Amino acid sequence: MPNYYCEYCGTKHSSVSNLTSNPCSRHPDGPNKGRHKLYEGTEKSRYTCKYCGTTNSSIANLTSVPCSRHPLGSNKGKHAPAL
Ligand SMILES: [Zn+2]
Ligand SMILES: [Zn+2]
Repeated sequence: MPNYYCEYCGTKHSSVSNLTSNPCSRHPDGPNKGRHKLYEGTEKSRYTCKYCGTTNSSIANLTSVPCSRHPLGSNKGKHAPAL
C-alpha cells in the first residue's frame, strides 16, 4: 500500500481521496482553512525545504518549523518539501 502525505503538514493517508477530504491544520490560509494537499514527490529518508535547503526526516517535522527564506517573508510561513 502506498502512503500519501500532505505537503503542508505531513499527515499520512492510505488514499488520496481520504487525504484531500480532511481539513489541514497547517494550511497556508490558516489552520483548517483548507484541505490537505497531496505531496506529489516520492517517499524519502530525508526531505529538503525547497526555499532554504533545510532537511528533516519527515514532512511533519519539516513543516512544523518557520522558514527564514519563505516567499512571503522571513518566517512568514513554514518550510515546504521539495519534490
Ligand atoms: Zn495537511
Ligand atoms: Zn525552508
